[in-house]
Amino acid sequence: MVAYKSKMVERIRLPARDQRERNLEAAGYNLFNLSSDDVFVDLLTDSGTGAMSDAQWAALIRGDESYAGSRSFAELEDAVMDVMGFSNVVPTHQGRGAENVLYGALLSADDVALNNTHFDTTRAHVSNQGADPVDCPVSAAHDPDSEEPFKGNFSLERARAVVDEVGADQIPLVIQTITNNSAAGQAVSVENTRRVREFANEIDATFVIDACRFAENAYFVRQREDEFTEAAIADIAREQLGYADALVMSGKKDGLVNAGGFVATDDGALFDRCKQRAILYEGFPTYGGMAGRDVAAMAVGLREAVEDAYLEDRIEQVREFGARLAAAGLPVYTPTSGHAVYLDAGALFPHLDPGEFPGQALVCELYREGGVRGVELGSFAFPDTDRPELVRLAVPRRTYHREHFEHVVETAETVLEKRETVSGLELASDPEMPEIRHFTAELEPRSS
Ligand SMILES: *Cc1c(COP(=O)(O)O)cnc(C)c1O
Repeated sequence: MVAYKSKMVERIRLPARDQRERNLEAAGYNLFNLSSDDVFVDLLTDSGTGAMSDAQWAALIRGDESYAGSRSFAELEDAVMDVMGFSNVVPTHQGRGAENVLYGALLSADDVALNNTHFDTTRAHVSNQGADPVDCPVSAAHDPDSEEPFKGNFSLERARAVVDEVGADQIPLVIQTITNNSAAGQAVSVENTRRVREFANEIDATFVIDACRFAENAYFVRQREDEFTEAAIADIAREQLGYADALVMSGKKDGLVNAGGFVATDDGALFDRCKQRAILYEGFPTYGGMAGRDVAAMAVGLREAVEDAYLEDRIEQVREFGARLAAAGLPVYTPTSGHAVYLDAGALFPHLDPGEFPGQALVCELYREGGVRGVELGSFAFPDTDRPELVRLAVPRRTYHREHFEHVVETAETVLEKRETVSGLELASDPEMPEIRHFTAELEPRSS
């Protein structure tokens, strides 16, 4: 059921078709290079693109900008304790700031970090410490048609194979990303989290949860994991997160704000090391990389993120969007995640091979046909990995309405009708860090 009405609006426009054509070319066929003014429905990311509530805007005005000992920080500490169950918080400018602070404290050169799937900035931060990021997804994760409920789980089997190969001493860090963003945003069961905790104990590693979408994950746990069908979302979230030694959080996701993030831990020694790094890279530990007003808004957002009405509105909106695309005949990854609908561009364009970036071709077609901006998460974003050619249509929180999604579905139908005429792309530039090339690389239509 819908849980919000609008109190403020923002004008959007659909550029004319020939203008969209020119914009695509000028952007080097990379939609990160488009001006947002030229985008009609922007599904590039759900990161920091949502609408804040009236209560958050009120908190923003009351934010305390004191350099040290800010009252807004005390509000954040209370919220993190109540919602997530952790006592020590280091605020950062966003999630990757938290990754830099925490992973810099935990990793050295030649270490191995295990993760159900490293998100792109996580992978880059692990690599940046000289360590090796190794993914341990379950095999269903890369099967777009499997209906298994917890395709985001961490594979203990794969993790143990890595231990056999490199030895437990090489692996100081085990990460579980909930929901598993880079594996189509799939859910992670609490049972799996318990088993990862045990595994981390076995190999004497620190267990970190990347909690960016912890509230959406808790909603799926309640829907799908027998033990929790009657549980409160807040209780599920606290239980699942409670197995970790530390959390990294992007406030731009389930913090329901436009900027911010933090590290949280109950480990006093780790907290001290993180604070030192935060002072170096972020700011004094009671504001981190954030303005006091943003800290205040995030404290309110964390509490709203675990409300039933919010989560039902959110997850149902995304589910219905996915169902409409599937009904229109598009190959939709199942089950639908909490934050995005993923399309399988490999299935849509069987005439294109991975080297022609079928996912990026789909992203460009959606813009060309309807001014819709999505993002490729296949062989363009993840070179040299064996994963499906997915395109993500991420849904900003509390932002778009049914009419917007109808427009996207109609646009996708148009692409579906002309799919045989769609040609592939090739790289026209090659940025230095391959882990993050999709943010800046330029492409051009493949000359056939
Ligand atoms: C977004 C995200 C991050 C990084 O957070 P930013 O706020 O974008 O820096 C890390 N991990 C996951 C799973 C994410 O979704």
